[in-house]
Amino acid sequence: MSHSPPAPDDRPAPHAATQAVWGGEGGTHWERATQVPVVKSVSFGYDDLDEWRDVALGVTPGHIYGRNTNPTVRCFEEKVRLLEGAAAATSFATGMAAISDTLFTLLQPGERVVSVVDTYGGTNRLFSEFLPQIGVDVTLCQTEDEAAIERAIDGGLRVLYLESPTNPTCKILDIAQFAQRAHDRGAIVVVDNTFATPINQRPLALGADLVVHSATKFLGGHADALGGVLAGDAKLVQSVFRRREITGATLHPEAAYLLLRGMKTLALRVERQNFNAMTVARHLRQHARVARVFYPGLEDHPNHDVAKRQMPGGFGGVLSFQLHGEFDAVKRFLPRLRWAHRAANLGAVETVVAPPATGSHVELTAEQRAALGIPETLVRYSCGIEDVRDLIGDLEQALDD
Ligand SMILES: *Cc1c(COP(=O)(O)O)cnc(C)c1O
Repeated sequence: MSHSPPAPDDRPAPHAATQAVWGGEGGTHWERATQVPVVKSVSFGYDDLDEWRDVALGVTPGHIYGRNTNPTVRCFEEKVRLLEGAAAATSFATGMAAISDTLFTLLQPGERVVSVVDTYGGTNRLFSEFLPQIGVDVTLCQTEDEAAIERAIDGGLRVLYLESPTNPTCKILDIAQFAQRAHDRGAIVVVDNTFATPINQRPLALGADLVVHSATKFLGGHADALGGVLAGDAKLVQSVFRRREITGATLHPEAAYLLLRGMKTLALRVERQNFNAMTVARHLRQHARVARVFYPGLEDHPNHDVAKRQMPGGFGGVLSFQLHGEFDAVKRFLPRLRWAHRAANLGAVETVVAPPATGSHVELTAEQRAALGIPETLVRYSCGIEDVRDLIGDLEQALDD
């Protein structure tokens, strides 16, 4: 009689919270361990040369060399694949490795990519500097200008690259609508789902071909491991994997384990973070010292209806708000917060705060930030899983000077 649970594939497809716990963890582990072992071995040995060749050629499953694949890393990829409802998934050392390997695989010189000005800072650098260097034609639209995005898509493109909600002003793009239009042009649609997580939003179900994550943020959730992941169409994922196994931005098995372990509580954490962010957003909107709150869960958010439709799980753990006054107001306010790290990160179990002026958009001038609709007194507030009464009390005392 077997002591191991039935392989997850034999069971009916579970809901996301169950998948986060069990998904991808099947298989016989070393000495019947119930938890996925951290396999640090760089190589995998074969006495039978025929078997070695078959594994190396991918005819039979198995592992050859750690730059290509690893059993611990494979479990992490499988968990994300199941959560995103994807045919395939592959992983990377960081989120930026996932995004750059994906874009540099999909785009050839002379081809066109359409995106928006509000993507993550590193992604924006790929669009503004590195992709044009190899002759890729990059069109970045104003994120809130739906007609401009549609015109850019209709002009023909190889890749449509979206991010929603955006960083740091929480703008929302209608993924289904733009994906459909891009598919009419024969394009590949990629969505960065880092801010939403598969608990809140499933871009593949909305029509995207590929979804990328900085697993460093919500997926891992504990700010102790870097990682990236790409999930979606099997052929496309395979083509990006073929590049990654040569360019070598491989996820480390130790990081894969931390991310796997973090992901077991993904649904619990994200549900709490959704609740905390909504509660904090509603509270701050009433506050005399706060000029404006940016959060897609608020009814007066310009794209609240789209967010409600495409984020059935919730509106995410990140909000931002604009203080009245000058940057000095931010300089006084931030050090007074007791329950928040002041750091360049988000999606962790601890609340993390950062002003774009010193964090995500530090490399831009005040004028460039203004052109992106980022006020100088904006604060990005990534809710942790703390009791929201403590977060609100903390914000109150920090604003009260
Ligand atoms: C952090 C982040 C990235 C980059 O991920 P790294 O793991 O830091 O390389 C990409 N996209 C978004 C939305 C992010 O927040």
